[in-house]
Amino acid sequence: MAAFQYFKHHVDKAVTLLGLSEEQKKKLETPDRVLKADLSIKLEDGSTAVFPAYRVQFNNARGPYKGGIRFHPDADEDEVSALAAMMAIKCAVVDIPFGGAKGGVAFDPRKLSKHEVHEVARAYVRAFAEHLGPDLDVPAPDVYTNAGIMAVMLEEYEKIVGKPSPAFITGKPLANGGIIGRDTATADGALFVLEALLSDQHRGAEGLRAAVQGAGNAGAQAAHLLAGLGMDIVAIADSHGTLVNEKGLDVARVLEQKEAGVHVVESGVAGDARGPDDVITEACDVLVPAALEEQITIGNVDRVKTDVVLEIANGPTTPEADEILAKRRVAVVPDVLANAGGVTVSYFEWLQNRSDEIWTKERVNEQLRSTMTDAYRDVADFALDRSITLREAAYALAVSRILNR
Ligand code: GLU
Repeated sequence: MAAFQYFKHHVDKAVTLLGLSEEQKKKLETPDRVLKADLSIKLEDGSTAVFPAYRVQFNNARGPYKGGIRFHPDADEDEVSALAAMMAIKCAVVDIPFGGAKGGVAFDPRKLSKHEVHEVARAYVRAFAEHLGPDLDVPAPDVYTNAGIMAVMLEEYEKIVGKPSPAFITGKPLANGGIIGRDTATADGALFVLEALLSDQHRGAEGLRAAVQGAGNAGAQAAHLLAGLGMDIVAIADSHGTLVNEKGLDVARVLEQKEAGVHVVESGVAGDARGPDDVITEACDVLVPAALEEQITIGNVDRVKTDVVLEIANGPTTPEADEILAKRRVAVVPDVLANAGGVTVSYFEWLQNRSDEIWTKERVNEQLRSTMTDAYRDVADFALDRSITLREAAYALAVSRILNR
């Protein structure tokens, strides 16, 4: 099943649950606008490369379109549309006044120089500038894009509009109007939700075992925070392999090495090296997919040995696998709730830029905690009330908020 079909599957369920009409369903499942362009980039060897680029503006019923831009070889219209749709759901789940959008460029930034990647970023802004803007559509980082790339995009946009526009983009460096804590916000938000869930389950984090897939921005920060709560990180994976130690890894050391460009299995930290996918089937209490889509599938779900899945990545569980986990009573904290901390702090950044304020670390942290725990409470109560999963509840709640505006 393709990514957009997954999204439809979840919305269809919400439509049935809420007794909505065909017309309402169509509105929820149709993007407002699909923008495409071919970006032509001059490479350092003198050749020219052409990369397909997308911006999908899904729904702005609750506020300006909002969502990141990913640089990844697999980015295509279907994937970007699904992710844009999920952004609309996500913003409604945490109840912030944004709609949903997503961007993507299909190329591998790991194979290009920094300068070439920045040229892609500039070309992207030039291609879509007329459809972007602080009140229209506000981009942000996503897979393989970061604060530095946001700074380059902002510079290009300001060149086009001829005036300072820091609220054009979020996830910027602090020096360009960024907000403190945006870089760790996705993982911070996920941890607030996990703490609330564990408290509902009448248990603490201390001594629980976690397995983390992904050692990029969100994954590394999540591993660091989970260890900080007293959990044992029994496995951590990047795209090259999984490092496993049932007694708990020296995660600080793994992440320090990773920061220096060393793959987790080559970090020299005590543990066994396994394949990159093995992290998913490692026995643990909390499994944290924090990399890409479609990681827990019908092919491996029977070997998944956890009782909580915290979806920091977008779309890591396929609908078939999700159903099996639900039958087994595994608590799956869905992406649209678990990773909404990123866009929540993007919203704070956008507010900061518009009011010319500088938010303190304490203010960001406090507001993020209350936004995430309120969202969790709304979703968990709805799920309990209707005897449905957290994902079904999150979609139903979001859909009703989108339609009522
Ligand atoms: N790319 C992130 C996400 O998938 C953040 C989006 C944003 O901050 O606008 O939620």
